[in-house]
Amino acid sequence: MEVVNLRSDTQTRPTAGMRRAMAAAEVGDEQRFLDPTVNALQERVAELLGHEAALFLPTGTMCNGIGYRLHVRPGGDEVILHERAHPIIAESGGPAALSGAMLRPLQAEGGIFDAAQVEAALRDPLDRHQPRSRLVSVEQTTNMGGGRVWPLETIASVLDKAREHGLRTHLDGARLLNAVVAAGVSASDYASRFDTAWIDFTKGLGAPVGAALAGSRELIDEAWRYKQMWGGAMRQSGIVAAAGIYALDHNVERLAEDHENARLLADGLAGVEGLTIDPEMVETNIVIFEVEDAPALEAALLERGIDIGAAGRRLMRAVTHFDVDRSGVERALAAMPEAVARIGRVTAAR
Ligand SMILES: *Cc1c(COP(=O)(O)O)cnc(C)c1O
Repeated sequence: MEVVNLRSDTQTRPTAGMRRAMAAAEVGDEQRFLDPTVNALQERVAELLGHEAALFLPTGTMCNGIGYRLHVRPGGDEVILHERAHPIIAESGGPAALSGAMLRPLQAEGGIFDAAQVEAALRDPLDRHQPRSRLVSVEQTTNMGGGRVWPLETIASVLDKAREHGLRTHLDGARLLNAVVAAGVSASDYASRFDTAWIDFTKGLGAPVGAALAGSRELIDEAWRYKQMWGGAMRQSGIVAAAGIYALDHNVERLAEDHENARLLADGLAGVEGLTIDPEMVETNIVIFEVEDAPALEAALLERGIDIGAAGRRLMRAVTHFDVDRSGVERALAAMPEAVARIGRVTAAR
């Protein structure tokens, strides 16, 4: 029996159509701007995000790393971001190691903070004892916040506050296109307001490798230096860029199906005794719910062919994607009551 893989939307495998597009890609040396497929993808992303230029990179993590480095002067410049944002929880300390950044984590329900919180976090530029506030970093959608969508007005007011105080702005758009499909707001309406913004091709878009960082021509020229320095410059990478183009052509509108499946999952979970979830909070493809003992539930589900990761001692995180259909979600829901009952017994036996 095949495992229902709800661990992450990174788990998708390239489809036959995507593989054909990759095999047929025209390629050249990307470092000399001679790979037509990479060039086409970069132009496509620049236009999509409403920026002058874009740069194809191996991972979203490198987009955050280079984005931060473009804005932060090593030696104590401070980045304002949510306390569970990806650079804090999942980049091996990259902001400190690669940019010498101080981080100013904010707490906010669902990962969405507001302009008043930014204002309260700002350092006094006249006080040389304090670090310098330099960058505001936003995640759309919020990953550990449960795939929540930042309303455009909230983004606008946070960015106004940042600009008013001379700060730069960065958008981690690993799942920006999920927000676009869920909210009906264009990618450029969200992304063009930021100094740098990026999208990932390996999440719901279903490509095996790649992400692209957009910004002004000047910032992207500088980003090329870090791509080279940090070992991200490739050669005939049109082979993988082709998957990104294919994904933008074929896999964006269908994200709505992932959102429907996530909603189905959340509604079902709400009816399972021993689980806590508010299905109204599920806006895109991420479903976070609470249980007494998350690692034990993870193990009990895996025994039943359902792969959902614990995201903490009591938190579970399920993510819908291309490779899980409605019947997969129904199987996960069918397995849930027994798995939850089983961890009840395990916990009682301890
Ligand atoms: C996955 C993810 C990243 C990192 O992207 P990779 O391509 O896996 O390196 C960054 N930010 C968020 C919000 C993510 O979900």
